[in-house]
Amino acid sequence: MLFNRSSKDTPEKKGGLFERMKKALGATKENLVSKIEAVLSSRPGIDEKVLDDLEGTLLGADLGVRVTERVMDAIRTQHKKQLIRTPDDAKAEIRKQLLAILSARLDPDHSLPDSPIQVWMVVGVNGTGKTTTIGKLAARMSAEGKHVLVCAADTFRPAAIEQLTVWAERSGAQLIKSKPGVDPSAVLHDALSAASARAVDVVIIDTAGRLHTKSNLMQEVDKMRRVAGRKIPGAPHEVLLVIDATTGQNGLTQAQGFMKFTGITGLIVTKLDGTAKGGILFSICQELGIPVRFIGVGESLEDLLEFSPEAFVDSLFV
Ligand code: GDP
Repeated sequence: MLFNRSSKDTPEKKGGLFERMKKALGATKENLVSKIEAVLSSRPGIDEKVLDDLEGTLLGADLGVRVTERVMDAIRTQHKKQLIRTPDDAKAEIRKQLLAILSARLDPDHSLPDSPIQVWMVVGVNGTGKTTTIGKLAARMSAEGKHVLVCAADTFRPAAIEQLTVWAERSGAQLIKSKPGVDPSAVLHDALSAASARAVDVVIIDTAGRLHTKSNLMQEVDKMRRVAGRKIPGAPHEVLLVIDATTGQNGLTQAQGFMKFTGITGLIVTKLDGTAKGGILFSICQELGIPVRFIGVGESLEDLLEFSPEAFVDSLFV
């Protein structure tokens, strides 16, 4: 839990976390679990042909090679020991393995270091949904009773500043912005000064999202981290990487580029609604070893859910 909840409604409380995840993951369920069920019941028993087909199905559902290998190793071992005899046995083992992958990296006591002002940086490639996600995060925290300030430090794109201005208004957050082209660290410096002066609880920083292969972008993010740390002890307290689920393995490669440089503490996977590629989330967790903190399930302000491995897996399998 990142913040103590106030009596105000979070999106989970309003719609029911499970129901909302289930709705968003409908296409992924169809692509992953319905196909698994079809393969498992395609022949009278679980045999080598069924297991081979199952492997192909997992790979085809964006789970990636490593996740597929892990699941298939577990299934084959249990099958040899005759512990898996029916489609339901196999399905239960797949569910168990997938849940373990999502849970492995979660620190149940994850709480942010004590600081009067929490500073969160949001990084990611343009188009992944960074700006929208910042708006949703700001709205969510405002609903929890926090005073939120958004810092428009993607000074590279004038449109990003304009877009963030709209999101800040919608979410009831304060905004610090500059003219396009200004050094992002200077805007950040101003934002953190304003946050201290105005008794703000949380600062959310938008950053530029030119491709990770541009090393000057990474240097820029690194400089911002140092500026934040000098202004507020321990800042940034979270560096959240936004990944677009619809980009599949490509998104994963981009994420690996960011990870090398930016000290990511958590992931936000967006656009899980309406894609059949949600299985990528398992691959992301396995490959990056960083917990998913939130998922994006639509374009509206309330379409950001706090991530729960159990709810995610149950939404697919129940
Ligand atoms: P940025 O360039 O990374 O800042 O991306 P934007 O925030 O501008 O988002 C790019 C597009 O993705 C916009 O059309 C958003 O409405 C859309 N988007 C962002 N998050 C989600 C999500 O969770 N679901 C869906 N369906 N669309 C999203």
